[in-house]
Amino acid sequence: MVSPPLCTPAEPSSGAFLLSGALKARGFTAPFLDLSPEFFSFCREAMEDDPRREAWRRAEARLRESKNGFDPVIHRTATGIIHSALAHSTALPAGWKATLMDLIPPFDIHSPLLVREMCEKGRDPFSGFWDAALDPVLKETRPETVLLSLSYLSQLAGAVSLAFRLERAGVRCIAGGSLPNSLALTGSGLGVLGRVLPGLRLGDGGDLAGLPPGRILEKVVFPDLAGGTGWMSPRMVVPFTLSTGCCWNRCLFCPDRDAPWSAAPAGALDMFLESVPVESRGSGRPVLHLLDSALPPGLLARALPSIRRSGLGFFGFARPTRELLSSCPPKDLADSGCLMLQLGVESGSPSILERFCKGFGPEEAEETLVALAGAGIRTYAYLLFGLPGEEDADRRDTAALVERAGDSIDFLNLSIFNLPRHCELSRRAGEFGIETRPAARNEEDRIALYHEFTWRGETPRAVSRRFIAGAAKTGTALYDAVKRTPRWLRASHMAMMRLPGRNPP
Ligand code: SF4
Repeated sequence: MVSPPLCTPAEPSSGAFLLSGALKARGFTAPFLDLSPEFFSFCREAMEDDPRREAWRRAEARLRESKNGFDPVIHRTATGIIHSALAHSTALPAGWKATLMDLIPPFDIHSPLLVREMCEKGRDPFSGFWDAALDPVLKETRPETVLLSLSYLSQLAGAVSLAFRLERAGVRCIAGGSLPNSLALTGSGLGVLGRVLPGLRLGDGGDLAGLPPGRILEKVVFPDLAGGTGWMSPRMVVPFTLSTGCCWNRCLFCPDRDAPWSAAPAGALDMFLESVPVESRGSGRPVLHLLDSALPPGLLARALPSIRRSGLGFFGFARPTRELLSSCPPKDLADSGCLMLQLGVESGSPSILERFCKGFGPEEAEETLVALAGAGIRTYAYLLFGLPGEEDADRRDTAALVERAGDSIDFLNLSIFNLPRHCELSRRAGEFGIETRPAARNEEDRIALYHEFTWRGETPRAVSRRFIAGAAKTGTALYDAVKRTPRWLRASHMAMMRLPGRNPP
């Protein structure tokens, strides 16, 4: 089970990790090889005569050694050093650019055929990398089939190059993952993806074990790990999910709204936790990353005793609601190892939250932030600007909520709305005054997940960008939270950040 580069080197690529563990739980041998950390090591070691290589090694060692949590200043400095050294790696051919979360080729990455052409001409950054990181594993494991998991666009070049390499080596490859599944819903780009990834399949991978859809994650154990490089983290971050789909499932702009929700059966979490090694690859006690789109409060409350017994810290996404606070009192959460909650606050405007069916108001979100922070739990608030119909007064409401919450917000994610092609809002575009750009002629050769759109002739994205630039002024809580938020290796490292007033990680 291979996750091609490039995604974050801070934690395992979750879809491939879980599928590998689910197959193992059913008796299959499918060791998990995450090639992103290996790719970063390859980029570093390629800088032979460059003094930045040594600086990168030292910076990475500082991160890996921070077993008692990250000092924010050291973290910022270390990731800054790695990120700027990466730009000079000789492993990247001319025109290719890598960051700690993305790989950008010198052409439109949305065009899989161009990616394939580059690979055929040997102009991608991977051929030496496959020799060094993939071939030894293939030689050792002699797989009957390589399962290739593609979750992010940043992995597309790596996935296409890997499929090409396996094809030439005569190794059978089956590709799948959340990106093709999302494209199947948008209807744009799946056909062309199938032309460059032979053996492309949709679904959750359950068919590999002869299971119907929705059953594979009912039984998961910690997978066997292949390859030699550990993740760039002092403690291994271990993905798991209590549910699939979203328990709320109502937000109009959500592309996952139609996915059915189901909870993992009782006992699935205990079975998984028992299989997690106390120490993995020399790193400290692991941290659990709960991947649920939104942690269902009742389910989380039932999971807390098991997580507490395991002694692992955890973090994940939750809705900022009074239901969360009453089902999972913040002190119980903290005592059970909750290090951080990511909260989809979205907006401070009551009318925006209501219009898009978020199911909570700004006071409720604020109350949640304050209560969690008061119990020493890190809070990572997600704000969404530029929803169609958002006026200046709505944006000011959002900035005011951040001011009121003050340092109850530890980290902030500011995003500007993209209109998913597949969501209730796209289906009801006319009702919301949205006009989408007509499809281009060569659209079927491109991967696309979003519509370009205008609202009453305006581009809300541009308006939002201007507002954010003006609102995040020195001295504001918005500015302070943005400044506290690490630029690289985000959520998994934020959960382990040492901050005043927050529980030790
Ligand atoms: S809570 Fe999140 S995942 Fe659930 S419907 Fe809303 S946006 Fe989608």
